[in-house]
Amino acid sequence: MEYLPLFFKLDDKTAVLVGGGQVALRKATLLVRARAQVKVIAHHILPELVELVEQNNGEAIIGEYQAEMLEKVDLVIAATDNLSLNEQVHHDAVARHIPVNVVDKPDLCSFIFPAIVDRSPLVIGVSSGGESPVLSRLMRAKLETWIPQGYSRLGKLVGQFREQVKGRFTTINARRTFWEKTLQGQVAEKVFAGRDEEAAELLQANLDAADPDQQVGEVYLVGGGPGDPELLTFKALRLMQQADIVLYDSLVSEEVVDLCRRDADKVFVGKRRDNHAVPQDGINQLLIDYALQGKRVLRLKGGDPFIFGRGGEELESLKEHNIPFQVVPGITAASACSTYAGIPLTHRDYAQSVKLVTGQLKNRTTDLNYAELVHPNQTVVFYMGLHTLPVLAQNLIEHGKPADTPAAVVSKGTTRDQQVLIGTLADIAEKQAQAQLPAPALIIVGEVVNLQENLTWFGDQVLHNHGLVLPDAHATED
Ligand code: SAH
Repeated sequence: MEYLPLFFKLDDKTAVLVGGGQVALRKATLLVRARAQVKVIAHHILPELVELVEQNNGEAIIGEYQAEMLEKVDLVIAATDNLSLNEQVHHDAVARHIPVNVVDKPDLCSFIFPAIVDRSPLVIGVSSGGESPVLSRLMRAKLETWIPQGYSRLGKLVGQFREQVKGRFTTINARRTFWEKTLQGQVAEKVFAGRDEEAAELLQANLDAADPDQQVGEVYLVGGGPGDPELLTFKALRLMQQADIVLYDSLVSEEVVDLCRRDADKVFVGKRRDNHAVPQDGINQLLIDYALQGKRVLRLKGGDPFIFGRGGEELESLKEHNIPFQVVPGITAASACSTYAGIPLTHRDYAQSVKLVTGQLKNRTTDLNYAELVHPNQTVVFYMGLHTLPVLAQNLIEHGKPADTPAAVVSKGTTRDQQVLIGTLADIAEKQAQAQLPAPALIIVGEVVNLQENLTWFGDQVLHNHGLVLPDAHATED
């Protein structure tokens, strides 16, 4: 480690800044933010820099830099474009044992400025030791997107309770457990949602409830999207990385499960068409049991939890037990698979509405209102319809949908194994019988399917990355 990261308290300390241009202005802005008294020295000083320092108990000296100006000074920065002047400032500061920074000259620095992520009181400094400021800035950009703005308010809230918590718990371990739960649980979530007052009340209530072990956990019902991990939301990812235990089903891709906290317990509760690994009641009960043990439980579902996901049922049973929960929407298969297959679900000329329908039938015809599904100018998307495809297609035709209406099967959409089969209502079932594209698969019916051919720029991408099966090509694919 070339440099030891330290945080310098500059409250009422004097910092000398030699130089009066843009770079000096940037440094002065930082110093002022840390409440330093800034003395700027240069022949020419930007008016806004003069104003900044003078308004913050500092001083602007227009004229020649002199070594004596470093008397009783705590920090020195040289930000001029005059190399020999910069060197002189460096020497004068070193001779007086004052920390010095010469902008963009790591060799002349006894300390360096990191790239800063400011969520005061939480502050993160990133440094590459002067080797690559661009790398530090890129890292800072990543951190900026990763750390919610609410961390600043969360930090302040913790500050308000710090002494009280200290008094309440005798051991460091108990204190740490309490803070870990607080900072990663409901209190933090409330702050992120902008409900600071409720967060403070809850924190107080948790603290008064003495034994932190007896606190109820929380359930996160999260949509994990259709497969491609890049389609996760930031919120999904954040909750995935803080949950203690993960219950996921077969629609959630391996790559997505891999993004969950490494040391979280991962439980497969998959439901496949004929084989219910854990029945729905059992899943509901598991969620309750784990939450009552104080765990943060992630219920990770494919696509969106409220679209053919039975998310509502799981929440009802949590409500009965007063277990707190949050729901995070995910990108549903209809949206993702159609996009990745180059099929827009609506189009000014061809479809003014979309219907999302389950293709799972209890008995052959009565469940679905086909009369509604055959309207022109709409796209119909069938979930869970792969095994009933012949019945669906035949019924749509019988109820008046033209037999030449385009239809597509998108199998394992958005994953590396995505395949797309294009046909018409008349032949799509037969084509699928030959191609045998595997589940999960989505069926899209409507004129918009034809646009897939026209969106060649996108079609190409699908062809290369996702194994598109073109209408006449599937025979050779098999
Ligand atoms: N909640 C999920 C849907 C669950 S129902 C969502 O919002 O997407 C299960 C059905 O979703 C499957 O039978 C299939 O029709 C569809 N599905 C889910 N993921 C899919 C994928 N990656 N590719 C194609 N179809 C998918």
